[in-house]
Amino acid sequence: MKKMSSRMDRIIPSATMRMTQTAADLKARGIDVISFTAGEPDFPTPRYIIDAACSALRDGATRYTAISGTMELRRAVAAQSESVRRVPCQPEEVIICAGAKHVLYNLFMAILDEGDEVIVPLPAWVSYPDQVRLAGGVPVGIPTTEADGWLLSPEALEKAITPRTKALVLNSPCNPTGAVYDEDALRALVNLAVHRNLLVVSDEIYRDLLYDDVAFAPALTAVNADGRNRIFTVDGVSKSYAMTGWRIGWGIGDPDIIRGMTVMQGQTISCPTAVSQSAAREALSRDADFLPAWRSEYADRRDAMVRGLNAMAGVTCRCPRGAFYVFPDVTGLASRLGAGKTDEDVARWLLDEARVATVPGSAFGAPGYLRLSYAVAMSLVNDGISRMTAAISAL
Ligand code: PMP
Ligand code: GLU
Repeated sequence: MKKMSSRMDRIIPSATMRMTQTAADLKARGIDVISFTAGEPDFPTPRYIIDAACSALRDGATRYTAISGTMELRRAVAAQSESVRRVPCQPEEVIICAGAKHVLYNLFMAILDEGDEVIVPLPAWVSYPDQVRLAGGVPVGIPTTEADGWLLSPEALEKAITPRTKALVLNSPCNPTGAVYDEDALRALVNLAVHRNLLVVSDEIYRDLLYDDVAFAPALTAVNADGRNRIFTVDGVSKSYAMTGWRIGWGIGDPDIIRGMTVMQGQTISCPTAVSQSAAREALSRDADFLPAWRSEYADRRDAMVRGLNAMAGVTCRCPRGAFYVFPDVTGLASRLGAGKTDEDVARWLLDEARVATVPGSAFGAPGYLRLSYAVAMSLVNDGISRMTAAISAL
């Protein structure tokens, strides 16, 4: 009998997690690597949240909670969603899970039948296609182009819809491109999807990380009341509050879907971690007054990276408007390395020659590009760019 399930043949290790680990392993062996792989804020979780978590532990946040999360946190999420999305939200429309990634897992397991198609504009975060496959679905990638700002057009969406299409995944601001839909572009896309009876899965985890006065456009705000149960919003504390390790995310959507996901959750993790839920509730209880300083620091690092990358021979980089990634075109550099060389070869070469770790664009469905995270200190941005420049100049 086969040792492993055929389910395991459908998925691969997360490239972002793997590259982050590779860089960490090299550092642990004493090799001086600068890692631009990490998809997590380098700021510490704000102190008021940590203090609240310590008190919560002393006050008994040490037991199982309700399967879909504590009522206090679901109410806080509903209230926050109302203020961000300007649409009424009830706690019955909210489920708390162990991170936004886990929200997506529960969602796809709850809604997909074998062979159901989910449209994913490419480049996309690595976990969407694999999670769809894990749940028996078929991810249908639609390539977008840098020239179009990495945005999906309604025409391209229309063409990709088949009788098996169940959902469309949107992620604005986007990991890995940093692209952001403005209100009009989002409205056109979301309303087409809703009109064609799809579920719009809107991953809004980077909604607070926007630069240059760009405004955030939520999917839920883009539809009228009839369409709201066709929008499923994914959000959480990982990026906005620098709380990746606490593992708290949430889904907001049709109460029937939330109930299905709750059954999934009750049979798998029982409930999200009690103390992390207390911490997340505290996070949401105040204005995130630290965010403007974080945003301005991220924007400075982004500008330094974009400038540095554009000065390298064989590299061009647009200035993204959101998240904390840049996504340069490295096809020129790849051909300088030799005929037939790819973004993966460039990433390996940069690791070997410059001791700089990046994630190849092909992991996100965009060969020829690299993803570099600027959620690292400015001194590391500068050192990493100098190392890359030196290695490329020596070519
Ligand atoms: N969606 C996107 C687009 C992400 O980049 C991430 C970061 N890993 C997640 C979801 C998952 O976040 P979480 O830490 O809440 O699971
Ligand atoms: N979202 C982050 C990234 O893309 C964290 C890693 C992951 O969850 O894939 O690097």
